[in-house]
Amino acid sequence: MQMTPEQLSLVTEELATLKERSPFYAEKLSAVDLGDVKTQADFEKLPFTEKADLRAAYPLGLAAVPAERIVRIHSSSGTTGTPVIIPYTQKDVNDWAIQFARCYEMAGITREDRIHITPGYGLWTAGIGFQLGAELLGAMAIPMGPGNTDKQLKMMEDLGSTVLGATSSYALLLAEEIAERGIRDRLRLRKGVIGSERWGEKMRNRIQNELGIQIYDIYGLTEIYGPGIGISCDEHAGMHIWDDYVYIEVVDPDSGAPLPDGEVGELVLTTLQKEGAPLIRYRTHDLTRIIPGTCACGSRHPRIDTLVGRTDDMFKVKGCNMFPAQVEEVIKITNGTSSEYQVMIENISGKDILTVLFETELVGEEKSRCEEELATIFKAKLGCTPDAKGVPLGELPRSEKKTKRIFDSRY
Ligand code: ZN
Repeated sequence: MQMTPEQLSLVTEELATLKERSPFYAEKLSAVDLGDVKTQADFEKLPFTEKADLRAAYPLGLAAVPAERIVRIHSSSGTTGTPVIIPYTQKDVNDWAIQFARCYEMAGITREDRIHITPGYGLWTAGIGFQLGAELLGAMAIPMGPGNTDKQLKMMEDLGSTVLGATSSYALLLAEEIAERGIRDRLRLRKGVIGSERWGEKMRNRIQNELGIQIYDIYGLTEIYGPGIGISCDEHAGMHIWDDYVYIEVVDPDSGAPLPDGEVGELVLTTLQKEGAPLIRYRTHDLTRIIPGTCACGSRHPRIDTLVGRTDDMFKVKGCNMFPAQVEEVIKITNGTSSEYQVMIENISGKDILTVLFETELVGEEKSRCEEELATIFKAKLGCTPDAKGVPLGELPRSEKKTKRIFDSRY
């Protein structure tokens, strides 16, 4: 992503005093003279900041201001051991509210709206982020938090909630309850602001249809403010990121080299204005791409695409990085395939062999045509040609849990 002149000046200004303010970065970047960072290329040579670095700074080692300027902390739980604690100054809290309010505005939400907030409150950033933005916008915040479906639906009806803030899984649960109880006509919901995680088109359509609302994906993570650093617009073509607060890069997850706009890789974020815990080149492990060009909505803020997964899901064959979600897309758009498939990766005499098995009703010549088409689409989307083999319906194993579809026997 081309750094704008405004961003470059924010970055150099930030770096000029970073080591004085932040003992964490004084140590981490001790070998680097930050005064030498004058261009985007210089910036791209700075080392990444990893989640493990943040964990090692527990509890307040990330603080870049004196304790009396910290007005709040948030924490990302993390599945393993030590949590990460992020300190916020009043400016950080205000800036977060500004960004979240912009998200609501991007989604066409106004002060007339009543925002039903179901994400959790507490150490986690989710609920309170929705609330801050709502209050700054001047809308009515209804701070429900998660759980207690009966109460959710009663309040939704009695208060005439017009906007639902939720995770995709909780939105689906509510949508199903509302359908089952047949109470949709008694509700006034018109929009959904849904925390972005990787979720399928099918789930999105179900929520939209059951609730009769328009859905916007919101992006963010606790380490960088929280949800609200970006959102999708009416074009629903990726999420705009507030680039005056956050600088985005997409890098090759293996080499760390910056990728050209349009290519899928790992999202790396740098805060441009954060005081409490500034982060430089923070690796999110989220996989996405920067969408080139300007959005039809007219917003000048750059866009990232819907997340395709996490870097841990990635596999590499013949020098190409691939992600399960991309394979799934190829299966979906090839005529004649069913939803079931398997990817086998082997190494035979030093050569990677990539095979895609898929179930199909087709036989004979039609099946061969389908195999060819799949291989062509695969090559176009992922960069290498697999051996595509159609098999009869029911041939591939199913499992009640999440079905394993990628089998890599090389290691
Ligand atoms: Zn747009």
